[in-house]
Amino acid sequence: MLEGRVAVITGGTRGIGLETVRLFKEQKAEVILFGSKADSVEKAVNELASVGMEVKGYYPNLNNMEEIDKTIKEIISEYGHIDILVNNAGISANRKIEDTTSEDFSKIMDLNVNAIFNMTKAVVPYMKEQGSGVILNTSSMVSIYGQPSGCGYPASKFAVNGLTKSFARELASSNIRVNAVAPGVTRTDMIANLPEEQLAPIVKTIPLGRIGEPRDIANAFLFLASDMASYITGVVLSVDGAARS
Ligand code: NAD
Repeated sequence: MLEGRVAVITGGTRGIGLETVRLFKEQKAEVILFGSKADSVEKAVNELASVGMEVKGYYPNLNNMEEIDKTIKEIISEYGHIDILVNNAGISANRKIEDTTSEDFSKIMDLNVNAIFNMTKAVVPYMKEQGSGVILNTSSMVSIYGQPSGCGYPASKFAVNGLTKSFARELASSNIRVNAVAPGVTRTDMIANLPEEQLAPIVKTIPLGRIGEPRDIANAFLFLASDMASYITGVVLSVDGAARS
């Protein structure tokens, strides 16, 4: 479904991002993964190489425009084009407001929101020049109804939806589609610390009766990245077993 396409995936070293890297490789894309540091990027690249999946890895600071521009330029000079950008890197929060500093709040915004702006700003000129592109963002089910603690996380994901819908409208005339996937609770490191007794009541609230697997989310990214979604832009696709309701 992605033969000949070049995809850059942030937060590609584990969880949802790594599974999306795997699926895009299975579908014959060239994939470049971004992570936060050298060792986790090296680990992911080696793990993929051990199953015959060659990918390149980078770890630019996603809040430093110069570093991002330099990395994107390197990718363009090696691959010639970037067809798909998946803005997936993200961190969560669960502390009450009394225990959250304004620095904590800014840290979430920096990665979950500002980094999406920065990455999008860096790739859009190339996508415009080539006359097409797909930008996908990872939102969350909490972007629909908030959550009872860790306010910065849902606030950042509401902003992700805002960027998604606004970029979709702004970039449609350049044939660049922009969509988001809003996962429900998904089995990754982000929820790895939840003990079974906390997870079980969460599962009870999910009509489909289970939490999501990274592949469930990657499948949605694949559909939205592919030509099967050629008339879809500005959408936030919930992949959450109907947990949102
Ligand atoms: P994860 O913790 O397994 O992976 C996070 C990824 O983000 C890693 O690849 C990491 O390298 C990258 N990252 C973290 N800090 C970074 C930084 N400062 N700079 C650059 N990269 C950084 O988490 P995940 O569950 O796979 O989350 C991926 C996305 O899915 C996030 O945007 C998250 O908000 C969203 N999401 C997750 C769930 C869930 O239940 N797991 C639910 C809804 C949305």
